[in-house]
Amino acid sequence: MDNDWMARGNCRHEPPATFFPSDGVGVEVAKKICETCPVKEPCLEYALYYRIDHGVWGGASERQRRRLLKQRRLTVRPAARDTFATTV
Ligand code: SF4
Repeated sequence: MDNDWMARGNCRHEPPATFFPSDGVGVEVAKKICETCPVKEPCLEYALYYRIDHGVWGGASERQRRRLLKQRRLTVRPAARDTFATTV
């Protein structure tokens, strides 16, 4: 996966700890920085692809990313099941 986007993120000028907050207020601070980030989408996809559990990535909290992964599993499964059914 291409990682060039990392050098263009809004967070490049912030302390890394900002994106690994210990409370909800910290999560909101990090998400606010992500809001205008030009590489928000690849950042989120990177975190989802590598199943990164901790921190704010792509403007999404840990909980939001878990929810997104769950939604994607739910939407992918029926299609995968159909494909499997037609090839057997
Ligand atoms: S979306 Fe947020 S965490 Fe990702 S690169 Fe941009 S500022 Fe950094």
